[in-house]
Amino acid sequence: MSNRMPCARCGEIREVEIVEREELVTIKGKEISFKARYSRCLSCGDEFEASGQLDANLDAAREAYARLYEAPSPETLVALRARYNASQKAFGAILGFGELTMNGYESGGTPDSTNRLLLKLAADPLVFKAMYDINSGKIGAIQRRRIEDSEGFQAALRWSGLGALSPYLTQLQREKIEACASRNDRSVPEQLAVYVGVSSFQDYSRLYVEARWPDQEARELTSMIVPSGPTLGAA
Ligand SMILES: [Zn+2]
Repeated sequence: MSNRMPCARCGEIREVEIVEREELVTIKGKEISFKARYSRCLSCGDEFEASGQLDANLDAAREAYARLYEAPSPETLVALRARYNASQKAFGAILGFGELTMNGYESGGTPDSTNRLLLKLAADPLVFKAMYDINSGKIGAIQRRRIEDSEGFQAALRWSGLGALSPYLTQLQREKIEACASRNDRSVPEQLAVYVGVSSFQDYSRLYVEARWPDQEARELTSMIVPSGPTLGAA
């Protein structure tokens, strides 16, 4: 493959070819090998990165790193799927994958960046349920029942009706509230109401500070459920 572009060493437009070779870079302290592409001047032999190649090589290096260090392990994926009690095929259908895709990932195949993102999102029961609501028509009744009875799906249902609040809590915060609700034999809304009550207010204010509230939401929720007056400052 060849084309013409300016060669800095020759100082004029030259015929160049694209060359490809394995390169090593260090990202976050890890040495990564990736396939880099360069342009080689056919007149002087100089090799250089043309404008688009620089970005493409950076992307390739980042992707190589992500595949090695950010991709979920097969064990993680099996555990994730088990939480929703879904077959590989049904789980894949809910996330919008091909029929054999989960099987490939659980056998050591590496998800691409889009599917890595979807798998990461699916670890959150509320997000998984949102995906399920969209794609449940693609799977059979038996699989649907298994999934709807699963621990992960039930975790999402416990928060139904609190959709406006729950996305602003971290997974850990939700788990803490759920554990507390279960220990006290309360529903999640009842438990939240207790948090807002004065006796547990210190816990709630920490929760409030930890959560990343968009400004508008924070104002609305503040006027709605946080007691006014000096309590917040004293907590
Ligand atoms: Zn040249």
